[in-house]
Amino acid sequence: MMEQGILTIMSGPSGVGKGTVAKALLEKTKDLVYSISATTRLPREGEVNGSSYYFLPADEFRKKIDRQEFLEWAQIYGNFYGTLRLPVECALSGGKDVLLEIDVQGGIQVKQKFPQAVLIFLLPPSQDELESRLTKRASEPKADIKKRLSWAEEEFEYLKLYDYAVVNDRVDEVVLKVQSIIVAEKCRTWRLK
Ligand code: 5GP
Repeated sequence: MMEQGILTIMSGPSGVGKGTVAKALLEKTKDLVYSISATTRLPREGEVNGSSYYFLPADEFRKKIDRQEFLEWAQIYGNFYGTLRLPVECALSGGKDVLLEIDVQGGIQVKQKFPQAVLIFLLPPSQDELESRLTKRASEPKADIKKRLSWAEEEFEYLKLYDYAVVNDRVDEVVLKVQSIIVAEKCRTWRLK
């Protein structure tokens, strides 16, 4: 019988570098599948539909909620974001490891449905560093940056519900740590068939 893949969820405040870490992790980890989320937010410059996200109009997103096509979904900064259930379930049952890069509300929803999922919280080296990374990114207007920083405070409350905390100081080190977590998780006695 084929073993189920490991479902890894990476969360953390906006600006912590989840996107950069996820990209490096996927480049360096054979057979790790990235789950492309759906969102109602508008694409940023350089973002491609079907690659960065599936960009959907709000009514289409709602239809998918009603049809229970999402494994989880959440409203963040006034937009909807959600993980499509089918591709994740197919990859896992095909023995592939799957990476979700989603917010804490979504992370907790997934853990409730898949207790065997691994929750990793990515931390900034400091609050000042987080502010500076968000400001430098300059992909959002100033008011949005404020919104993201105040939501970051609330996100930290979820840290205790996560399995692992990794400080994003150097991307290559974070990649190594996350890879090690996945390898260790594969060796858990309760995962043995
Ligand atoms: P951004 O707009 O900067 O791409 O993402 C905003 C937030 O939405 C980030 O914290 C990101 O992790 C989160 N996010 C992206 N996709 C999903 C998803 O499918 N579900 C949930 N719950 N959050 C998501």
